[in-house]
Amino acid sequence: MPLVNAKEMLTKAKAGHYAVGQFNINNLEWTKSILLTAQEMNSPVILGVSEGAGKYMCGYKTVVGMVEGMLEGLNITVPVALHLDHGSYEGAKACIEAGFSSIMFDGSHYPIDENIEKTKELVAICEEKGLSIEAEVGSIGGEEDGVVGAGECADPNECKMIADLGVTMLAAGIGNIHGKYPENWAGLSFETLAAVQEKTGTMPLVLHGGTGIPAEMIQKAISLGVSKINVNTECQLAFQEATRKYIEDGKDLQGKGFDPRKLLAPGAEAIKACVREKIELFGSANKA
Ligand SMILES: [Zn+2]
Repeated sequence: MPLVNAKEMLTKAKAGHYAVGQFNINNLEWTKSILLTAQEMNSPVILGVSEGAGKYMCGYKTVVGMVEGMLEGLNITVPVALHLDHGSYEGAKACIEAGFSSIMFDGSHYPIDENIEKTKELVAICEEKGLSIEAEVGSIGGEEDGVVGAGECADPNECKMIADLGVTMLAAGIGNIHGKYPENWAGLSFETLAAVQEKTGTMPLVLHGGTGIPAEMIQKAISLGVSKINVNTECQLAFQEATRKYIEDGKDLQGKGFDPRKLLAPGAEAIKACVREKIELFGSANKA
């Protein structure tokens, strides 16, 4: 199945009270692990690519080529969207050009008027080309490719203004943070989420920073209108732990354990386990 935009899968998720996972990719093994798991669980999936990861993977065209090749080579039949994560205005345009099926324009650091103006322009381009587009209101704390925010809560009225521009899905800061959550984290602001949902109606809402949010908070967020949840750090930690164990156990020194296909296998399996767990938690299994 060729790449699809995220509109249909998220509309269904919002109506069906579950969420679709966005799993960020870093390389071939990452992408393969996520696609195979989504297929095995018959779940729609969104592959997220940050600008930094896009650069690392030799540019957006390389990413599109790799993902499209895998969809065919692995016989992936579940809906897959290829999505730019936290795109700049220029990055969004480059991904549209390269063949992504979905983009996020993160204009949260612009004054609201400029965010609106740039979002409007990108909405028009995405509409014409059949892409989905995510916008962000209220910066989301933690490390976003070098941009550090403070875990703030979005203004529900600003959310409505951006939602009304015709975006497909909306990321609103509700106290969530990228990366690992600190010990003293105050938790998600369900008050903010409920207020945003009330203002934006059927608009699928996006929860960034899905790593380490307790399961019951995730489920409550889904019940309050979150239909897309971004997971990045958790897969990285799973990969790191499994790879570390392989080396520490001296497996790379045994037989052909140095073969990169063997060396990276435990990490790839760990990513699969992480994705499987999230798909179950988000409720998107058998929703393809
Ligand atoms: Zn994010």
